[in-house]
Amino acid sequence: MVLSADYLVVGSGLTGGTIARCLQDAGCEVLILERRSHVGGNVHDHAHPSGIRVHTYGPHYFRTGSERIWEFVNRFASFFPYEAVLKTWVDGHNENWPVAGSYIRRTIGESWQPAFQGAPTNFEEASLSMMPRPIYEKFVKGYSEKQWGVSARSLSPTLARRFDVRLDDEPRLMRHKYQGLPIEGYADFTRNLIQGVPVVTGCDYLKNRTAFRARKQLIFTGPIDEFFDYDLGRLVYRGQQRVHEYLPDIAYAQPCGQVNNPDPANGPHIRTLEWKHMMPHTFAHQIRGTLLTREITTTPTDSDRYEYPFPDSANQALYEAYRQRAAALSGVMICGRLGEYRYYDMDQAIARALTLAERVLEEQQTTC
Ligand SMILES: Cc1cc2nc3c(=O)[nH]c(=O)nc-3n(C[C@H](O)[C@H](O)[C@H](O)COP(=O)(O)OP(=O)(O)OC[C@H]3O[C@@H](n4cnc5c(N)ncnc54)[C@H](O)[C@@H]3O)c2cc1C
Repeated sequence: MVLSADYLVVGSGLTGGTIARCLQDAGCEVLILERRSHVGGNVHDHAHPSGIRVHTYGPHYFRTGSERIWEFVNRFASFFPYEAVLKTWVDGHNENWPVAGSYIRRTIGESWQPAFQGAPTNFEEASLSMMPRPIYEKFVKGYSEKQWGVSARSLSPTLARRFDVRLDDEPRLMRHKYQGLPIEGYADFTRNLIQGVPVVTGCDYLKNRTAFRARKQLIFTGPIDEFFDYDLGRLVYRGQQRVHEYLPDIAYAQPCGQVNNPDPANGPHIRTLEWKHMMPHTFAHQIRGTLLTREITTTPTDSDRYEYPFPDSANQALYEAYRQRAAALSGVMICGRLGEYRYYDMDQAIARALTLAERVLEEQQTTC
């Protein structure tokens, strides 16, 4: 039997969920297929037996400067204020991340200078154009090389745009106007996002292509290379292995939710998360013990474990070849972080999905 709908949305993450919501709200017939046992994609969270809420696929700090996106997400969840503050474990101490100006003045001297001048051609030079070399080596080099598994000198300078040096010691990771976490968690938020839209979970569309039919459009938010059976080659991703440790007799083990671990001599993990910090304090304080998660970066081959697109020109060229093939298909749109082989923050993924949904509705000139 073939199951059909006007719009078949493959993937129930923020991209698929937002597009499905918009199409359903416009009166269209939509069906979502999701290969995992849960909806919500990578922002999903779950409860540890202790009651501590864990972000299943790594910590997700919601932030946006956009009124439109903030209003949109607040339709589906109430958020409590949460402004992520991170530390980096350096020389046996938790130091601010991004690096504080006061730390550089204390350890290097009042008249410190960035170690690189000119136009950076790689990530190391871009980082050194912000800070002295010893600071780069303690805070940035080890972290980035764990993250990407290659020398920092072989990485793109654009990656350094994701951090800065805080001359004013501002400790918050981000300065966006709206920052928070859903009070009832991301799983609840994403279930509400797609409320009323029919969903089939535990169903891999690519393994069941002939069982489903999109009468108007297929919206595919899974990996683009997998969609084409990898026939031009595989796009490289980095992912994380997560090792959890529950400490029943300790209320809190670290000063904040995330402590980075750049020094390879201090273990292979890239960072340690303590989830209680990411819960409303009134709930967190009632919970016995604490849960730590250490993340160790890997290069996954299982597409369900893909996290960060590898930032180099070879992969961009391969993605571009797949993108052109996708563009030639009629009635198919491939999008989202996996479909566009691109890192999107959550607010960016939602904004992009809202734009794509508008485009679908305009192009089809449909009243559904
Ligand atoms: C480790 C990590 C930490 C992050 N932290 C932050 C953060 O702090 N703040 C922030 O703003 N953003 C963060 N992000 C980004 C955030 O995760 C993304 O913006 C978001 O997940 C994008 O949603 P998506 O729907 O495009 O992709 P996904 O969430 O991956 O959804 C795709 C869905 O498609 C399904 N699927 C794939 N193939 C098939 C198939 N063949 N059949 C059926 N279903 C299929 C998948 O199972 C998945 O559910 C982080 C990302 C990572 C990797």
